[in-house]
Amino acid sequence: MKLPPLEVGPRAGRVRDRLAGAGVDALLVTDLVNVRWLTGFTGSAGRALILPERVVLVTDGRYEERAAEELAAVGCDATVTIGRSVAAQDEALAAAVRGLATVGLEAEHVSWAGVERYRTALPAELVPTSGLVEAERRTKDAGELARIEHACSLASQALADVSHLLDAEPTEAAFALALEDRMRGLGADGPSFPSIVASGPNAAKPHHDPSDRRITDGDCLILDFGALYEGYHSDMTRTALLGEVDPWLEEAYAAVEATQAIGVAAARPDFAGRALDGVCRTALTGSGFGDHFTHGTGHGVGLLIHEVPWATAGSVDTLAVGDVVTVEPGVYRAGLGGVRIEDTVVITVDGCRPLTHTPKDLSCLRSPPTT
Ligand code: ZN
Ligand code: ZN
Repeated sequence: MKLPPLEVGPRAGRVRDRLAGAGVDALLVTDLVNVRWLTGFTGSAGRALILPERVVLVTDGRYEERAAEELAAVGCDATVTIGRSVAAQDEALAAAVRGLATVGLEAEHVSWAGVERYRTALPAELVPTSGLVEAERRTKDAGELARIEHACSLASQALADVSHLLDAEPTEAAFALALEDRMRGLGADGPSFPSIVASGPNAAKPHHDPSDRRITDGDCLILDFGALYEGYHSDMTRTALLGEVDPWLEEAYAAVEATQAIGVAAARPDFAGRALDGVCRTALTGSGFGDHFTHGTGHGVGLLIHEVPWATAGSVDTLAVGDVVTVEPGVYRAGLGGVRIEDTVVITVDGCRPLTHTPKDLSCLRSPPTT
């Protein structure tokens, strides 16, 4: 699969442009997802330091060769510094910031103990910062979008390939395993999160772990899953009504399907995440299901399955071109089941473009009963 390359080189400069506004001369990036986005380094231990003129990646001896290879592969020109111990790595960071007045730490990602250690180790005033990398990371470039879209298509293809298994009334756990196995078989690194396969009354629980319950005729079936591809996630939910189901579920399906379409139609630049949640909530309230919509409408998707921007009642984010977000209204009734429909979309100059291409109506997932 030939996808456009990841353009990692310019990213540190985008974050550097935010440092003066945050009142810092340099930024110590300790969150591994942010480190990966900034440098291409995918190891389990590493810190990136954005300095006025350059970027330093500090990691340990396990990653000496791998770090150099990974940075070169994505066009990142950061200096790789290896420290065999945490103390040696801290010394390298201290040497790099010497002469600077202030160093920002990622307040959401550093522990109390970490702050105490940096106070001793770094010869600069430490300043808490919030979301400096994330503010840039949310805007996906062409290489990132291609990977997310490819992850979406792997998930869609996997569902199409394994749906016939439902004829044999598999357990939720067996179907989840088949779905995840097929995604890997198609080239995914794995599932983007533990797949949710929730049937019958289990579908009333928005985040149900697949169980040994058999998926059978008369069930509603919620499938919420995605593929991971080169670090990028996809996220989709489809609900299938298998055969004759309770009329409440039929009505709920129609309401959620219409609401989800309203949400996708509303998603556009300069639209508040809170407002996107609001249009879905208003639509479901209008059809009598508002009290059953018990979670937010959507979230950003990228190197994390859940990231900014948020489309929730409490969101402070405003949608912008290049954001990848989900639209996923759902309604649930304890003891009976639920309905959720979710697409991943990218915000474009004039609205949004869905990246999920699986059809909505899965009521025919299983072959009709033979008479
Ligand atoms: Zn989902
Ligand atoms: Zn989601």
